[in-house]
Amino acid sequence: MRRTTRIIRSTVTHCHWQPDPHHTKDTIMNPLKTIKTIKTIKTINTTKAKPKTTKPMLVSAPTLTPVVPPERSERPADMQMLYDILTLKRGHGSIGEQKLVAQQLTPRNPSVIRDRATDMAYVITTDPQSDVLWCCHIDTVHAMADDARQVVQFDTATMVAYKNDNQPLGADDGAGVWLLLQLIDAGVPGTYVFFRGEERGCIGSRYVARTQADWLKTFSKAIAFDRRDTCSVITHQSTGRCCSDAFATDMGKLLSDAHYTLTPDDTGVYTDTAQFTSLISECTNISVGYYNEHSGSEMLDMEYLLWLRDRLIEQADLIHQVPSTRDPSKQEDMYRPWGGFGTSPASDWWEYGTVGNTYDSAPSKKAKAKPQHPECAEDVCNMRYRELVRWIEKEPDLAAELMYQLAEDLVYGPPTGDDLGTGV
Ligand SMILES: [Zn+2]
Repeated sequence: MRRTTRIIRSTVTHCHWQPDPHHTKDTIMNPLKTIKTIKTIKTINTTKAKPKTTKPMLVSAPTLTPVVPPERSERPADMQMLYDILTLKRGHGSIGEQKLVAQQLTPRNPSVIRDRATDMAYVITTDPQSDVLWCCHIDTVHAMADDARQVVQFDTATMVAYKNDNQPLGADDGAGVWLLLQLIDAGVPGTYVFFRGEERGCIGSRYVARTQADWLKTFSKAIAFDRRDTCSVITHQSTGRCCSDAFATDMGKLLSDAHYTLTPDDTGVYTDTAQFTSLISECTNISVGYYNEHSGSEMLDMEYLLWLRDRLIEQADLIHQVPSTRDPSKQEDMYRPWGGFGTSPASDWWEYGTVGNTYDSAPSKKAKAKPQHPECAEDVCNMRYRELVRWIEKEPDLAAELMYQLAEDLVYGPPTGDDLGTGV
C-alpha cells in the first residue's frame, strides 16, 4: 500500500497523458490515439512479416510437432527483440537479468568491466575512432527474487506496450537496451555500454567512472537513452549541469522532424551519464518513449522508439559532428535542499510532488514547502529511491533514528497520548 502511494505520487507532469490506474486496455489506448491523430503517423519500415501459409489438409493422424505461435513467427525481428527484452523482469542480480545478458549481449561478444568476479558493465565497440559513448542500463526496479518472465501486452496496432499486473513494465530501461542493440546491429559508429545496477544507485557506472577514468576521457559525448516521454534532451541531472545548452539544442534539431520534437530539458533526475560529468564533455540523456516508470502503469510508446532508432541511424554522422563545448573540469552546480542539486528553481526535481502535492511556483514558497528530512513513513513513501539513498548517505544518524522510530511504530503501534510525557 505504501509503495502504491509512493508510485502514484511519483507520476510526473511531463507525461502527455496519464492512464486511469484501473484502466482497461481501451482507456490506455485512447490517449495515445488522441496523440496520434494530432501528428501524422510515420510508417516504420520494419522487417516484413512472413506471408501466411495455408495449412495442408490432414488425411491421417500426424506425428505431433511443436507449433510456433503465429504472432511469434510473424513478428518482425526488431519487434521480437523488444518483446524478448520486455518479457524479462531484470531486477539487479536476478535470473531475468542474467537471461538478458545471455540472450542479447553474450552473442555479441562484449568486453566486460568487472569488479573482481562481479560484472559491472558490458562494452561493445563498433568503431574505436568514434568519440560517442552510447549508454543504457540493463536492470529494472523489479526484485531480485522475482520470476524471470512476465506477461506483456504488446499491441502492435496502437504501438503501445503495457502490462495488466500492476507491476512495472521495465521499459525503463528495456527501451534503451533495445535501442543500443539496434544501433549496434545497424553499424552506427560508437562504443556502447550496458550498465548494471542503475536502479540501485548507478552501481556499474559509478564503478566504471572510478576505475576507468582515462578510458572515459577519450570520449566527448556520453549519450544515455533512459528518459521518459518523447521530447527531452537532458542538460541537467541531480549532480548539476551535465550537458551544454548548445549541444542539447543541436541534438534536438538533428533528431526532430515533423513527427516528434526534442528540445533541451533541465529537469533530468539521475542516470548513468551523471557519473561522467567531470570526465566527458557532453553527458546527456534522451527520451526513449516510456511513461510512468517504476509504477504499475508504466508503458512504452513503441512508435516513438522505432522512430528514434531510425532517426539516430539517419543522423549518426551529423551527431558525431556536433561540437562538444562543456568543460568537464568546471562543475556548474546549485545546491538543492535534501541533498539534490540542480539548476533553476523552477525545475521539478521534486518529481514525486507534482501530482500528489501542489506547490506555489514562487521559488521561496516552494522551498519552504519542502521538508529538509523525512520524518515519518509518509515522507519516506513520498521519496524516490535514489533520493532516499542520497539522504541516507548524507545523514546516516538521522536515517538510523528514523528506522528505529518506524520499527517501533510497527512493533508497538504508533505513539498515543498516553505515551507522551508520562514515562513510567
Ligand atoms: Zn532508468
